[in-house]
Amino acid sequence: MRENERIIIIGGGLTGLTLAYLLSKKNINATVLEASSRLGGRIQTTKGALLTPLELGATWFSDIHPNLLALIDELGLQKFLQFSQGTSLFQTDLNEPPQRFVVPENQMSSYRLAGGTQILTDTLAKKLPKETILLNSKVTAIKETENGAVLETDTDKILEADKVIVCVPPQLVSTSVMFSPRLPDALHHLLPTVQTWMAGSIKFTLEYDSPFWRNEGYSGILFSHVGIVAEMHDHTNFEENKFGFTGFLDGAGASYSFEDRRRFVLQHLANLLGVQALNPTAYFDKVWTDEFVLGDNPVIPHPHYNNGHPLLQQSYMNGKLFFGVTETATQHGGYMEGAVIAAQSVADKIR
Ligand SMILES: Cc1cc2nc3c(=O)[nH]c(=O)nc-3n(C[C@H](O)[C@H](O)[C@H](O)COP(=O)(O)OP(=O)(O)OC[C@H]3O[C@@H](n4cnc5c(N)ncnc54)[C@H](O)[C@@H]3O)c2cc1C
Repeated sequence: MRENERIIIIGGGLTGLTLAYLLSKKNINATVLEASSRLGGRIQTTKGALLTPLELGATWFSDIHPNLLALIDELGLQKFLQFSQGTSLFQTDLNEPPQRFVVPENQMSSYRLAGGTQILTDTLAKKLPKETILLNSKVTAIKETENGAVLETDTDKILEADKVIVCVPPQLVSTSVMFSPRLPDALHHLLPTVQTWMAGSIKFTLEYDSPFWRNEGYSGILFSHVGIVAEMHDHTNFEENKFGFTGFLDGAGASYSFEDRRRFVLQHLANLLGVQALNPTAYFDKVWTDEFVLGDNPVIPHPHYNNGHPLLQQSYMNGKLFFGVTETATQHGGYMEGAVIAAQSVADKIR
């Protein structure tokens, strides 16, 4: 790498921020352009009325994610075990009582981050010089020039770079960023086919002032084929003094209003866990289809389709353009582990 090369990272999710952090450790300052008004991308922790960290995006990881675990450790963050003790419920038929089961103790552990997953991206961002992160900067065009590349944003900002790393899901890139000259045909045709993990999913989260389900011997785990809540887990915080649930809603929920989803979720849980479920201190949900994750693209139903494709490992525009997002990772594509692997892979390439 030449001295004082201008590096621009497009996308302030886990991959973009980890990459900026890895480069900063080599004394390379990169500029991060983030389209939305917040960092984190598919990591988004919100807080309820009682300040419980509540996940709208990525939540769990495990021992098969060594690169993520090492990063968490390096940043001095604290992981803790997902609670699963007690009676779990599996609902297959509306007219039958739910099946009850207990999660075996020796099952592979699932972890969460103390303080909420967003502490990971927030901590990475704090390690970077403030002026190198630009929010509300959606890149719309990347044009190769003789010596580098010129980037345009939706606010008509023009930025020049020697190297550009696109840390945005490939499918979204295919319809939101114009490349000049056009990308090679094979890559041009590949980008729209790369599945974006969790695009189209609906995550919900609830906060309560007491863990009423734990007091009744329930784990908080629910799988349902019949109600609006498709999957749910206990969401009590690390300190065990703030309580709630998080999980996924059935895809049909996207066509309901927020108020209807809230009402159906509370009723579903009240039927299974008791009337206390009707009085949360907070309810949030998020349909992950917005312009920062999916845009006007269709949801690709085949999980991880074309993730880690060889064409996503190469550089383009004569070594000036790289792709790096969890979907480009050759292992664990789609997951936070994939995001860390993708960042490490690009950091090695542009060294
Ligand atoms: C509901 C849900 C649940 C999940 N659960 C888990 C889980 O439990 N465990 C797990 O490991 N993973 C989970 N994931 C996946 C995990 O969130 C991702 O693997 C990870 O956050 C991806 O990070 P990334 O930086 O690669 O991509 P992203 O987070 O998608 O970051 C891309 C960034 O680019 C920005 N951007 C988009 N277009 C532009 C543009 N034109 N210009 C500038 N910026 C742009 C976006 O706003 C975004 O900030 C979940 C995801 C969702 C949505």
